[in-house]
Amino acid sequence: MTSRILTPRPGVLDIDAYVGGESKVAGVERIIKLSSNEGAFGPSPMALEAMRDAASVMHRYPDGSSSALRAAIAERFGLDADRIVCGAGSDELISLLTYSYAGPGDEVLYSQHGFLMYPIAAKAAGATPVKAAETDLRTDVDNLLAAVTDRTRIVFIANPNNPTGTYLPSSEVKRLRDGLPENVLLVLDAAYAEFVARDDYSPGTELVDAGQNTAMTRTFSKIFAMGGLRVGWGYFPAEIADVMNRVRGPFNVSSAGQAAGVASMRDVPFQDRARAHNLEWVAKTESALQGMGLKTTASVGNFVLARFANADRALACDTFLRSKGIIVRRMASYGLADCLRVSIGAADDMEAFLDATRAFMEGQA
Ligand SMILES: *Cc1c(COP(=O)(O)O)cnc(C)c1O
Repeated sequence: MTSRILTPRPGVLDIDAYVGGESKVAGVERIIKLSSNEGAFGPSPMALEAMRDAASVMHRYPDGSSSALRAAIAERFGLDADRIVCGAGSDELISLLTYSYAGPGDEVLYSQHGFLMYPIAAKAAGATPVKAAETDLRTDVDNLLAAVTDRTRIVFIANPNNPTGTYLPSSEVKRLRDGLPENVLLVLDAAYAEFVARDDYSPGTELVDAGQNTAMTRTFSKIFAMGGLRVGWGYFPAEIADVMNRVRGPFNVSSAGQAAGVASMRDVPFQDRARAHNLEWVAKTESALQGMGLKTTASVGNFVLARFANADRALACDTFLRSKGIIVRRMASYGLADCLRVSIGAADDMEAFLDATRAFMEGQA
C-alpha cells in the first residue's frame, strides 16, 4: 500500500487525466496520425524560419507580455491588442479562467460532448462540473439555460465543438449570452474558428467587445499547425484581461513560440490553403463515409466524427485501422463509444484512411 503524505484539494483526485491522441502502433513503421486535429501540411515555412532565427537568443527570457504576437493577432483579426492575453496553448487560458472565476461550491457548466478540458479544469479548481444534454450532437442553448443555478459561475462552449464538429450560429450564441445572468462568465472556445466558412458563424469577438462577461479563446495548435510549441490566445473585456495578466506565469509563452506565432499569423496564404484543403476533404470524407453506411455530423472543424452501428463496430474498425498504421481517435471518454474521430490530414493519408475503412465496412477485415 502506498501512503499518501499530502492530500490534494478536494476534486483533484476525481480527475481522469486527459489522454491525447496516440502516435505509435507497436510493430508498424509508417504511421498515419489522424488523431489530434493537427494541421494537414505541417507548419508554415515562415514560422520555421522565424523559429530558427529565435533559436540563437534562447538564453534570453521571452517578452513577458508577448507584445509583437498580440500586435500581429490584433492586426489580423481587427482586435484591441490590449485585451489580448497569450498563453501556453489555450488549455492554459481555460485553466486560468476557471481558477480565477470558480472554486469550491461553484458550478462550471458545459455541453454534453464538450471538450474534456472543461471538467478537468473545473475539478482542479475545486468546482463542480455540470453537463447539459445536447440535441443531435449539437450544443443546446435551452438545455444550458435550464441547467443554470445560482451557483453557476462559468459556461464553456466550444464553437465549433470538438469532437462533434457541429457549431452554433451567432444568433444562438447571443441568445445564450442574453439568457445568462450577467455575473456568469461565458467562455467561447473558438479553437477551430479559422476553418469555418459559414455566413451565420462568428467566433464571438462582438460579444467580447460588447463589454459583457464573455471571453473568447483561440489557438495556434490547429489551422496554424503549431501544437508542439504550445501557443494560444484569448480576447477579453478589460477587467478579465487584467485578471489573466495577474494570474498567468510571467513568461508563459516561449520566445520560439512568440516568433513562430507572429510569422504564422502573417502567412495568410498558408491559412487560406489550409482552409481550402480542409473544406474539400471534410466534404469528401463525410460523403465517402456516408456511402459506406456510416453517419457523420456535417463538421465545420478539421475533423470528421463517424458513427458506427454500435461501440463494438467502432472498436473493431479502430483495431483494423491500427493494423494498417492508421491512428484515429476513439471517443469513449466523450460518451461516444460508437464513434471514431478522424482528423483531416494530407490527401494521400485521407485516401489511405478511406480505403482501409471501406475494406473494413465491406467485411474484408
Ligand atoms: C485543440 C483544442 C484546443 C486547443 O488546445 P491548445 O492548448 O491551444 O493546444 C482548445 N479547445 C478545443 C475544443 C480544442 O479541440
